Amino acid sequence: MTLEIKTIVLKNYLGNVNCYLIKTDTGFILIDTGWANKRKELEKELERAGCTSGNLELIILTHGDFDHTGNSAYIGKKFGSKIAMQSDDSRMVENGDMFWNRKKTNVFTRTAVNALLGILGLRPDRFKPDISIDEGDDLSKYGFNAVVLHIPGHSKGSIGILTTEGDFFCGDLLENTDKPAAGSIIDDPMDFNASIEKLGKLEINTVYPGHGKPFQMTLLTKSCKKLQMSKENRRKI
Ligand SMILES: [Zn+2]
Repeated sequence: MTLEIKTIVLKNYLGNVNCYLIKTDTGFILIDTGWANKRKELEKELERAGCTSGNLELIILTHGDFDHTGNSAYIGKKFGSKIAMQSDDSRMVENGDMFWNRKKTNVFTRTAVNALLGILGLRPDRFKPDISIDEGDDLSKYGFNAVVLHIPGHSKGSIGILTTEGDFFCGDLLENTDKPAAGSIIDDPMDFNASIEKLGKLEINTVYPGHGKPFQMTLLTKSCKKLQMSKENRRKI
C-alpha cells in the first residue's frame, strides 16, 4: 500500500521544523514532535488528520534535539503512545541537555543555551523514551513497513526511517531549506561521511528532512559527494 504522509510544518522565530504524520492501515505514526511552544498547532494538525488518542501507534524521534522532541512527553501521555529513539541520544531528553554526547561544546555554552531554552519556553519536558530503536529494526509490528537506519553525524544517536517504498525520513542529517544539502550542524564529520556513504548504497527515492521541503535523493548525491571532498565545505562542517 502507499502510505499517506502528512508534513506538519511548525514555525517559530528560530525557523521551521517538520513533523511527519504517517497514516498506515492500522493507525498513525508520528515522526518528531517539533517546538515545545507550538504544541497547540501540532495538536490541531493531528486532530485534523484523524489522529486521536488510541490510534497513534508510535512516536519516533529522529534525534534528541529540542526542535524535534519538544512535545514528545505531552503527546505520548495524551495519546497513550510509546516514544522510540536511539539510545545514544536518549540522555539528551532524559537530562534536558541538547549537548549531551556531542563533541563541540564547552561548559559555559552548554549551561547558557540550556538555560535560555527554558526561558524561551523551548525546553522539552524531560522524559525517558519507552523503546530503544537501532539499525535494522523492523517497524512493521507498528503497522509501518519501514526499517530504522542509524545515521550519526548531526548527533550520535541520529536515526533515519526508510520505508519499503523508498521514502526516507532523515532528521537533520540532510536538509532542504534552500537546496538539498548536508544539515547545517554536523557534530562529527567522519560519522556524517560514513552515514552518507551508507545511504548511497540504498534504494532511496524521496527524502523527508527535518527542515525544508522533501526532495529526490538523486538531487542530493552530487552535492554531498562535493561536500565530502571540498575544503571549503570541510571547514563548514
Ligand atoms: Zn532540527
